[in-house]
Amino acid sequence: MIRLAIHGGAGDLALGTTDLTPHHSALQAIAARGYQALREGAPALDVVEQLVVELEECPLFNAGVGAVLSRDGMPELDAAIMDGQRRCGAVAGVTRTRNPIRLARGVMERSPHVMFIGAGAEALGRELGLEQVDPTFFITEERFHQLKIAQEKGVIVLDHDDDEFIDDESERAANAAADPGFGTVGAVAMDDQGQLAAATSTGGLTNKHPGRVGDTPIPGAGTFADNESLALSCTGTGESFIRAMFGQRVHGRMCWSGLDLQQACDEA
Ligand code: ASP
Repeated sequence: MIRLAIHGGAGDLALGTTDLTPHHSALQAIAARGYQALREGAPALDVVEQLVVELEECPLFNAGVGAVLSRDGMPELDAAIMDGQRRCGAVAGVTRTRNPIRLARGVMERSPHVMFIGAGAEALGRELGLEQVDPTFFITEERFHQLKIAQEKGVIVLDHDDDEFIDDESERAANAAADPGFGTVGAVAMDDQGQLAAATSTGGLTNKHPGRVGDTPIPGAGTFADNESLALSCTGTGESFIRAMFGQRVHGRMCWSGLDLQQACDEA
């Protein structure tokens, strides 16, 4: 039995009158490739990494190209990968490695550590021969515009929640139209050997303080996998997932309280 789920960020689309076809098409095409790979016997870990690379390359989502921007106008990218045997790798505050999820996998498999940040993470990326880019490579006009709105309002926001800080109804509708409401990306899979894996990548929150790290790169919070329970990739305000240690908490509810996935997530 194989299983696959991917996401491009979850948000309130109530005001979203925009045509979301490009987003849905991108997600469907990427998921279909992943499913095919799993059918052909690819390991879950390879599949989730590859799918997140594709999502990082797609400017529609808040990861890699098209990531949201920090207060100083620069992208700071976080990513993590984890397999069902609890091997994991994570990076935070990356600005130059083109695919942070590849760097996270490099941390997991080619270093003795679990998490790298900032300059040290970039240095590892260079050592591992991963493609490096100028930080401006990740910046899109839409994200620059979102940052300007956030700064005018003096708020820090999930990219898909930015209608929350706009007072005027018509302005809010216009903004919802400009922002189709997709964010952080992730993939979870189970391969034909029953192995689970999870991968998540994000630019974090619009107008975040430089140096802020969310839940995405924290194994056991925003990214989690354990063959005994589940593979998980979260999207939403990272601080909440960290405080809850969300992934580990869902795992605990499933393993020790006998809850199913939905009940465990609801409780956590
Ligand atoms: N969870 C991410 C963070 O807080 C944001 C998101 O899901 O869009 O960094």
